[in-house]
Amino acid sequence: MELARRLNKLPPYLFVEINQKIAELQARGKDIINFGIGDPDLPTPAHIIERMCQAAHDPVNHRYPETGGLPELRQAIAEWYERRFGVTLNPAKEVLPLIGSKEGVGHMALCFIEPGDLTLVPDPGYPPFSLGTILAGGKPYFMPLKEENDFLPDFKAIPDEVADKAKLMWLNYPNNPTGAIASLDFFERAVHFAQQHDLAICHDTPYSEVAFDGYKPPSFMQISEAKKIGVEFHSLSKTYHMTGWRIGMVVGNASMIDALFKVKSNLDSGIPQAIQYAAVEALRGSQEHIVEHNAIFQRRRDKLVKILNEVGLKARIPKATFYIWAKIPQGYTSMDFTKKLLDEVGIAVTPGTGYGKEGEGYIRFSLTISDDRLEEGVNRLSSWHRRRR
Ligand SMILES: *Cc1c(COP(=O)(O)O)cnc(C)c1O
Repeated sequence: MELARRLNKLPPYLFVEINQKIAELQARGKDIINFGIGDPDLPTPAHIIERMCQAAHDPVNHRYPETGGLPELRQAIAEWYERRFGVTLNPAKEVLPLIGSKEGVGHMALCFIEPGDLTLVPDPGYPPFSLGTILAGGKPYFMPLKEENDFLPDFKAIPDEVADKAKLMWLNYPNNPTGAIASLDFFERAVHFAQQHDLAICHDTPYSEVAFDGYKPPSFMQISEAKKIGVEFHSLSKTYHMTGWRIGMVVGNASMIDALFKVKSNLDSGIPQAIQYAAVEALRGSQEHIVEHNAIFQRRRDKLVKILNEVGLKARIPKATFYIWAKIPQGYTSMDFTKKLLDEVGIAVTPGTGYGKEGEGYIRFSLTISDDRLEEGVNRLSSWHRRRR
């Protein structure tokens, strides 16, 4: 048996070491508070689950779904984009449901990347942006997201020959892991840059509804020329606390969506229909829980950011996402400091380097743990700090 060489090109999975350490500590009876996982702790709203159960009893939904999704779901997605962003989409050609947006994000590279081709990828960034390209035989070119640039890529710093050679560019705002946001003006500049260099843009925006202080993140699709050169990936995972059900979507440029459909129709057989009906209910039903959930995350955010700054882990207050991107003290690597927090405080976080080289010097806290555990974490950080002084 001989495995394909492409597997060796995948970077080592950084979290193996951390997860091992957590398991060891827990085996020794230590209580670890896990701020590492970005997965809503609150349940999917009840009306969505009820619709899913109802649909699960209907034998029509026991059979193979279509890769392209139910027309009703495509329609509901288009209506949601119209209501939320004022963006008009053709549900037959400019909308495609996905088995969670990660699936579409990963497969998109197969539509663009030939061996040796370049993809522009943010660093730090969500790993599937670069991994899809690597599996397709291409190479990621990393665009650093620097704090002094508000974690936006600097297009002027990308050499012309790189930009001309690249096929695809990934962007993601509100951003995981930095919590940064982007304005319509930034998206405008991104479209202009893409047009200059004949690039396709994929914008990933699963956190557009996880926002605070009255802020409403815009859609990349609000830029009038965006549909000519790009698509936007979205997901029900974070908005409706549906990570376990696996449903998302991609909208925008019809040729890009058709290309992704061609790949997918040869690899998967669509999304279980009961879950598609649940998604229709989520998009068309009451949106009240979004406000409630955001109020909970906002409260947790304020509590955590306050203590982090007090103990010397400098963090900005994010306007969106449930992540806090905190700067660690000088003299440590992200990995060393992550281990130190595990050993000395019993707190697990994600080392910034799990998201790329530029993540060095940072750690990521997720707000998706219960209020009790968060409170306990805050107390532990506070007494750890007192002991150290
Ligand atoms: C959570 C997340 C996703 C994945 O969402 P699914 O729809 O659950 O696959 C995509 N992109 C980013 C940046 C994320 O943080």
